[in-house]
Order: sequence, then C-alpha cells, then structure tokens
Amino acid sequence: MKLYFKEILFSLMLASGSNFGQGLNIVPEPVSATLTNDKFVLQNGSDIFLLSDNKDLRKVAEQLKNIIHKRTGFDLNIKNGNSDKGIVIGLSEGSSVKPEGYVLTVNNNLVKISGKDCAGVFYGIESFQEILKRDSIQCYLPGCEVSDYPRYGHRGFMLDASRHFQSVDFVKKVLDVMALLKLNVFHWHLTDDQGWRIESRKYPRLNEIGSYRDSINSVERNGYYTVEEIHDVIQYAKNLHIKIIPEVEMPGHSQAVMDSYPELLCPTNKGGNTYCAGNIKSYEFIKNVLDEVVSIFNTDIIVVGGDERPKGIWEKDSLCKAMIAKQNLANEDLLQNYFMKNICDYISGKGVKTIAWAENLKGGVPENQYVENYYPDVSMESARGGYYTINSNCFYTYFDYPNTSEEKKVKPDWMPVLDLARVYSFNPTPDSLEDASKKFIIGTECALWTEVVMQHDIQFQLFPRILAFSEDAWSPNEKKNYDNFVKRVKEVKPVINSMGFEFDKGGW
Ligand SMILES: [Zn+2]
Repeated sequence: MKLYFKEILFSLMLASGSNFGQGLNIVPEPVSATLTNDKFVLQNGSDIFLLSDNKDLRKVAEQLKNIIHKRTGFDLNIKNGNSDKGIVIGLSEGSSVKPEGYVLTVNNNLVKISGKDCAGVFYGIESFQEILKRDSIQCYLPGCEVSDYPRYGHRGFMLDASRHFQSVDFVKKVLDVMALLKLNVFHWHLTDDQGWRIESRKYPRLNEIGSYRDSINSVERNGYYTVEEIHDVIQYAKNLHIKIIPEVEMPGHSQAVMDSYPELLCPTNKGGNTYCAGNIKSYEFIKNVLDEVVSIFNTDIIVVGGDERPKGIWEKDSLCKAMIAKQNLANEDLLQNYFMKNICDYISGKGVKTIAWAENLKGGVPENQYVENYYPDVSMESARGGYYTINSNCFYTYFDYPNTSEEKKVKPDWMPVLDLARVYSFNPTPDSLEDASKKFIIGTECALWTEVVMQHDIQFQLFPRILAFSEDAWSPNEKKNYDNFVKRVKEVKPVINSMGFEFDKGGW
C-alpha cells in the first residue's frame, strides 16, 4: 500500500510539472516542464528540419548543429520540411506562445522546438543544450514537454570594463553563458574614473591618456576596444539574441575624461572626477561623445551614468554657481537634474532612449529615460512615480560582493556577504509594491564591478550566483524553489565548464 501511494505521488509530481531530482535540469526553471518515460537517442548524420525557409531560423538551426557537434562530435544535416523523426524547429504563430517563449517536446522519435520568434526558438535550443546527456553508450535527451517564456523583457548583466579591462575573447565567453541562462541585455560599463574603454576618433586623448591607468599589468588595466572590436562583439551578441547597451558615465565617475581634457573640470576644482556643469564646453563635449558612441554601437538606447557625483564641489564653483542662478535652481543636486535632462533631451531628440542610475528622482526624470536603481527603496519610489525601472538592488545583484564570510575577509569592509541563497531569494517586483505600479518594473540586472576583480577571477564571482539571478529574471516567482535549484545547478555545471569557465571553488 505504501508503494502504491509513492507511485501516485510520483505521477502527481510529473503531472504538475515538477522535475525535482528527476533529471530534467534546466536553468532558469521553465514556466512548465514535465518529464516523460521517453528518450530520444541522437544519431550521427540525422536531420534537423526547418518548418519554414527563414534566414534567421536557419541561423538558429546552424547554432543547434554546432552545439551538437561540440558536445557529441556528431554531424547533423539541416533540411527544409517537416518530419515525425529527427529534430524539427519552427516558428509558431499560436497565441499561447509569448514573446521569447518556446515549446520543447521530446519523445522517442522526435525533438520539436517551436518559438514565438527566433529568440524563442534559440532559448528552446539553450534548454536542449542543458538536458542533452551523454553516457557510455549514447547521447540522448529525456522525454519531456516544456512550455516556457520569460518573466521580464529586460534581463541584464552589467560588466565593468573600466576598473579592470577584459579581452574580447573573454567578453564573448561571458555572452555565451548569458545566452545559456536566457539573459538578453549586456550592459557594458565602458567609462569610469580608472579608464575610458571606447575608441574615440573625435577625442583621441580619451584613448592616449584616458585609457591608460598606470604602468602596472598593462593587459588588464590599460587599453580600449577599437571600433572594429566593438562591432565584432555586437555581432556576436546579436547572434545570441543579446542586446548590448553601452554606458558612458557622467557627471561624476569621469576621472579618465578629466585627465584627458582637464579644461572640463570646474575652474575652482582642479583634480576632481566630475564635469563642470556650469561650463558650456562640458555639454558640447558630452553630446559629441554620445553621438560618436551611439554611431559606433548603432544603438537606440544608452546608459548615461548619473550616480555618485561628489557633493559640495559644484556649489563652490563660480561657473556652476552662475548656472544655478541662471537656471533658477535651488541647489547643486538640482543642477545635476538640469545637466542630465539637457544631455538626455538632446540624445532623445535623435531617437535614442537613456537609462540612468537613480540619484534624485524628486528632481525629475527626463522623458524617454528608464531608471536603474541600486538602492532597494529607489525601485519602489521610481515605479510609484510611473518611471520604467530596472531593479538592480545591490544587496541581491552585486557580484563583486563576497560569496562567503571567508571571502569577506579579503574584500573591502563595506561589502556585505551575498551568498547564493540570498541571490536566489530576490524578487525584482516586490510584493509590497502596489499592483498599479508593478508594471513599471520592466526588468532586472546583476552587476559585476571590477575594482577588485581581475579577469581570471570573474568566473568565481559569477558562478553559481548568476544562475540564481537568471531564475530571478526569467522564472515565475511562485515556481522558484531553492533546494530544487541547487540540484539543477550541479547538473548544468558541466555545460558551463564546457564553455571555458571553472565553476567556483566551493565544491559545486
Ligand atoms: Zn563647475
């Protein structure tokens, strides 16, 4: 009798879509996933059928073919048409499939992946990649029915290329993992105090001076991405359905610019890291730079910084004081709002949206600007104010923070421990937010600031925490289960290792 109940329980688990411990290991957790007793055995020389002769769909099929070759050594053929045997991929116009969503069905004879759009089919292939198994006799996929789509449209990772600089090859590896985890926005932090990392043909001193931090370790502290390298990375990301959003910091966090063009400093503040907001040349310079960056990236959205301007500098400067008086502003914080609005209105006039780190919402947010927050209360305030908001609450998403109390000993004192379970517990749209305001939280980002993180160590900061974050960004909040997640992480780890990373040192 006991056995009978166990069997019922097992059937219920399958019927409810739970794959707890049953071998269907997909991260991020899908909306619905049911394991069956079938098994699809992959054969060398078998076929991938395309339901429609669509150029972008064919590209996704090529990616699947490459993944299978890399993981199994098998060569598959891509054909147009339909079949009840082999692998079939196609677009589904059905209303039940949501944007970026997909349905993956595996039985004894057939693997079928259909998506609302090519991004959806691509995500179906990433799930395929995670459940593909190899034992001593065969390569196979477990029978399953997966129906899936994202919780948020903006699922980002921010990498700081200014404090330490990463190679193009490394950035591509990061993009590969982002795609595996169904993250779709690469927020590239390319300028800061320590280095300017974008080639500028208009302002060459940004590279001659601003890209060179010092003479130590020239590989990771000094350098910039050429226009050709940036184009290469953008194309690479596009193939992975990842949008790159470049960031140019202002008005603070700009020491590299001030070292290159010191005439942009406040005249009474030689040596700071902040543009003079009273000097018309600052506005001209930034607008020219943004025109150049927008052109290089061919982007319709850009991050314009806006965070951590040192206080008390502008209010002591003659030019800034004159601008405060001329614009009838109450104080230097409102001068920042004026400054940001002036720049953002200019770039918005060219059809480019902006994202800014939230500092003074009360002072006003320019039109066509999204707010990104790192302090928890700001996401609530921003959403309540009716501003589209990307929630990057630092206490859940900043991966330069130590993983463990042991790691905390070698990190700056102010950094709290951010362990895996805490990252996993993050809900970017807090329950306490009123329903009417919830729609303004459009997504979330995790971030890796690199003041104290060299390229080789980035993997130990990312893994496994970015896997937890991917479920915060993609999976239905009510489906998240930490114990289940930890089991799936162990199964997905070899896939990430196969992409050229080492997982963390913590016994995963
Ligand atoms: Zn000034």
